[in-house]
Amino acid sequence: MRKPFVAGNWKMYTDSSDAESLVNGLKPLVSDVKGLDIAVCPPFVYLQQVVNLTKNSNIRVGAQNCYVESRGAFTGEVAPEMLKDVGCDYVIIGHSERRHILGETDDLICRKVVKALSAGLEVILCVGELLEERETGKTDSVVETQLSNGLKEVAAGDMSRVTLAYEPVWAIGTGRTATPDQAQDVHAFIRRWLGTRYSPDITDKVRIQYGGSVKPENAKDLMDCPDIDGALVGGASLKSDSFAAIIKAAVH
Ligand code: PEP
Repeated sequence: MRKPFVAGNWKMYTDSSDAESLVNGLKPLVSDVKGLDIAVCPPFVYLQQVVNLTKNSNIRVGAQNCYVESRGAFTGEVAPEMLKDVGCDYVIIGHSERRHILGETDDLICRKVVKALSAGLEVILCVGELLEERETGKTDSVVETQLSNGLKEVAAGDMSRVTLAYEPVWAIGTGRTATPDQAQDVHAFIRRWLGTRYSPDITDKVRIQYGGSVKPENAKDLMDCPDIDGALVGGASLKSDSFAAIIKAAVH
């Protein structure tokens, strides 16, 4: 049985006072929620603040990105070791906004995954197709390419620290959610792929989150699907009550 995992991606939306009210609002709403993992992923500059605010709670902290080196002349970048140092447990890698706005390639994404794992972080690796790719029947092949390239150098022994997030790009921030059947089909495809690439054991254990306009109203139907193990939530994670409702919908 996989433990569900719900993570909130705050993107570039919060300032310091938003971070404080979001975390202080969320903590009492989820303090007695058991049997799943919860994380929030603020912008880099508020990570330390949010790590401090979430101490002694069941909320863990992740970053939204990292670089592929530990230290050096890489102006503007942040090393995974630095994320670990400030108390992060997770890092999101390969989000569609980084792939499509910042031009990140599968090769760079794979290097980030490997480096983050070697620094002791857990990784949320995002994959997902564009609308035109779905409409031309390319969803499975696009997702397969992103997975096989993104996990190319990731050993089986490290897969216990990798969560996959299936996020159809056409559903992110658009209000247009994949139906539970559409999401489940791709999640089942990803699970079968894990079996071919790794082993039956890894197939059963790796968590696959769904992301793309998840809200309290649709969360339960999505997370009741057999291969959906939680959610990566953008917009609805910016309000503590809606994020708490999604977290509660993920508990089996
Ligand atoms: C995301 O940013 O990963 C995301 C899924 O955003 P939203 O929930 O707003 O669609």
